[in-house]
Parts: sequence; C-alpha cells; structure tokens
Amino acid sequence: MSMHARTFERRDPITGDVVTNAHAATVEEAVAIADRAAAAFPAWSAIGPSERRAMLNKAADILLSRADDFTELMMGETGAAAPWVHFNVKLAAGMLREAAAITTQIAGEVIPSDIPGCLSMAMRVPVGVVLGIAPWNAPIILGIRAIAFPLACGNTVVLKASEFSPGTQKLIGEVLTDAGLAEGVVNVVTNDPADNPTVVEALIGHPAVRRVNFTGSTRVGRIIGELAGRHLKPVLLELGGKAPLVVLEDANIDEAVKAAAFGAFMHQGQICMSTERIVVDEKIADEFVAKLAAKARTLRAGNPRKEKGVVLGSLVDKKAAQHVQELVKDAIDKGAVLAAGGHVDGTIVNATVLDKVTPDMKIYYEETFGPSVSVVRVKDTEEAIRVANDTEYGLAAAVFGSDISRALDVAKRLDAGLTHINGPTVQDEPQIPFGGMKASGYGRFGGRAGIHEFTELRWITVETKPHHYPF
Ligand code: NAD
Repeated sequence: MSMHARTFERRDPITGDVVTNAHAATVEEAVAIADRAAAAFPAWSAIGPSERRAMLNKAADILLSRADDFTELMMGETGAAAPWVHFNVKLAAGMLREAAAITTQIAGEVIPSDIPGCLSMAMRVPVGVVLGIAPWNAPIILGIRAIAFPLACGNTVVLKASEFSPGTQKLIGEVLTDAGLAEGVVNVVTNDPADNPTVVEALIGHPAVRRVNFTGSTRVGRIIGELAGRHLKPVLLELGGKAPLVVLEDANIDEAVKAAAFGAFMHQGQICMSTERIVVDEKIADEFVAKLAAKARTLRAGNPRKEKGVVLGSLVDKKAAQHVQELVKDAIDKGAVLAAGGHVDGTIVNATVLDKVTPDMKIYYEETFGPSVSVVRVKDTEEAIRVANDTEYGLAAAVFGSDISRALDVAKRLDAGLTHINGPTVQDEPQIPFGGMKASGYGRFGGRAGIHEFTELRWITVETKPHHYPF
C-alpha cells in the first residue's frame, strides 16, 4: 500500500469545478474487492427468496428517498438535465423491484428420464461473483441494471464504475448496503481511467468472477469480449447503436415528429437507443423535415442548473461536442442540408437536424452520441428497410405507419433487438429482454432472459433403484 491515498477527479463538464474526488483503486485493491465478494457469496446465495426480495425492495425505497443526492451528483458529474436524472431514479427503482419480484421465479424443470425410478432435474443456481461494468450516460439505470438481476439470482457483485460518474455509482453501493445487504455482497470499484485496462483485466481474470456484463462503447466492448473469451467467462455485451426511425408514406407525421424529436434529443442524444438516422419516404419528406426542424428550434440548450426551461443539458465533455461538430461539418461539406441547429458552445450543442444525408458522409455510419439527427430520403418501403439496416449496429429501431400489417412486416425485417411500431426508439422497461444484435452486442438484461444470463443451469439426478451397469 502506498503512503498516499490515490484519488482521481471528476469535474463538472460545464463549469470545470471538481464534483467528485474518487478513490483510485489499484489492481491489488480490485483483486481484494473480488475476494471480498467471493467470501460473501456462500451466505448471500443461501438466503431465502423472500428475504432477498425484501432487501431489494427496500433498496428501491432508499434509492427513491435519496433522489436529491443522486440529482446533485449526476447533474454535476455528467451535465444531465433534471428530467433525465428523474427518469434514471425512477427506472432504476423499477429495476430493483422487478429483480425483487423474480427471486421466486428462478425455476428449473423435472426431465423425463430413461432410467427407471430416476428423478432428473435441471436446476438454476447462482454462479458466484458477477462483474458489471457500466458507463456514465445513464449512470443510475445502467449501474443498477448491471447488478440487480445478478443479486436477485443469488450472486454477489462487483460494479466497476465509469470515470465520468464515480460519485453517482458509488452512491448505488451505499443504497444497497443501507438496505441491509451484508458486507461484500455489493462492491463498487472506482479507478483512475489510466488504470482501466489493468484493473478490468484483473477483475475478469479473477477466479471467483464467473460472469461479466458490460454496457458501453463497441470499441471497449470488443476488448471486454476478447478478455472474457481468453478467461472463458460468459459475457453480456450492451454496446453502441445507430437507431433508425423509419417513416413510411402513410405515417401520422405529427406523431412521427414527436417521437423523432424525443428519440434524437432526450439527454442530448447520449442514449444507446437515441434516434440517429431517420429514414423517410420522399413523398412526405418535405413536410416531415419542416415540422421536425420547427420542433427542434423550440428546444432550448444550456446549463440546466442555471437557466430555466432547458431541455438539452451539457454533453459529457468538450471532446463529445467536438465530435458532433466535426460530423456535422463533414456532412454539410458533402452536401447535407442543415435544417436546424448546428451551434456548439463548449459542451452545449443545440438540437441539430441534417437533411439529405448520404452514405459518403461520416455521420451516416458513425454513432454521433450527441443531439444531431440525420434524415435520409428514400423512394419506397423496400429502400427504407435497406437503408435502416445499412449499419453495423442493431440495438433499437422504430417504424411509423398507419397500415399496421405493413409496419409489422417492416419491423420484423429490421436488424434490431428492440423495435417499436408507432413509438420512439428510446424505450426501456425493467421486465423486457433488453439487448442488441450485430455490433451492438449480445445477451439480454431483464425478464426471464435476465435469469438465464446470471444463473448456472445444472443437471442433477437422484436414483431410487439400483442402477444398471454393463459390466
Ligand atoms: P466506454 O466504453 O468508454 O466506457 C464504458 C465502461 O468501460 C466504463 O466503465 C469505462 O470505465 C470502461 N472502460 C473504458 N476504457 C476501458 C478499457 N480500455 N478497458 C476496460 N474498461 C474500459 O463507453 P461510455 O463512453 O462510457 O458510454 C457510451 C457508449 O456506451 C456509447 O457507445 C453507447 O451507445 C453505449 N451504451 C450502450 C448501452 C446499451 O445498453 N447497449 C447503454 C448505454 C450506453
């Protein structure tokens, strides 16, 4: 141990003031934390489902009661506007309650056996320590999501926090400890970003860690997938997106505009399900773009803690704002039409709509993760499907159309784990199987699928008659 406590800072992206001085765990400390989680596993996994349920429900209550602390930290660390923080608190509490509800639903089956008198069972049992790695963009939802179902299934957990939201995610650990979970059941690791590769490799390689889940970028997700493969640990990867919203010629245009604006600009477009590419039938494109641009111009961007009526808060840092600015400039240079926005001031970017985007522009393929949305005009439904699928990603998608049979046919042909008809691309509920395909990752959080991810399925037999042997 060094003589000095190691720390790292997280600063407010708008003011530059220090919000959090977080502990910077060393590799040795991370290993010791995983050891603690392993030591807590036997007792936690032996607790009955009703008691586990009661504690998770209590954690949901405590989370809600600490909404003000979460708001202060999350707005400071990430620059989010208040509605996004409130949504985070509410959905995260819902995830804890859903996890609480499934504790008695972790069922196995009795399998017909060819051996006379044999009771043959498939049992779902806890796996051990589950490592969750979370990003900053929905720090409460995604921090809780990384651990709630694993805990409900009887596992102990290590949550590796994002360097952009260490205080917010540390508070998640406090909430669970205050709900009565014993020492070592929930552990939050914060570390200096420079130590991400070594700390994460040590945690994935730790023998007690039996499952990994990761939410974040496709770039880092690939590293996590490779490490998990090397150590033969099953991994759930929730990665980036380029969600298309398809507007068919018979769509209710006003409703499609509302969904597009919400999906593109909620939390400044920094949601994995954010609407990035709007694919519009050219027969209605002029009206759609005019209405979306008008709506975008009404959405105020600014410092949500200082100004009233701010819908778009800050991006996570200047680099993120510059990334959006570069993509928008590249598109305009290559012939895209700026229909609204395009203004960047430090980390504040206003709601931006680009029309007539084509595949030679970087913004067509790259995840912007900012408040900029591209409109691609197409001549018919077949071309709309082709353009919507013309991306490496496959997380969220949406289709607007009045002929539901046709809209359903389009929805079925989109490569996306989450697809909505006549609703926005940004939607989440605790009880649904959340996850993507292609470069958006694999595995599912939530619902019955979540139980499968975080339990081991074992075959156990009991013989009641002498077994027959060939020799
Ligand atoms: P990120 O990949 O940079 O970071 C995610 C986590 O990985 C953080 O905890 C970070 O500390 C850690 N990390 C970073 N570099 C690492 C390295 N070299 N080795 C090991 N760990 C490392 O992602 P981000 O910027 O925090 O989040 C934004 C991205 O996450 C976007 O691409 C977004 O689409 C995606 N995302 C996906 C979902 C989903 O459910 N599919 C949800 C939210 C965000």
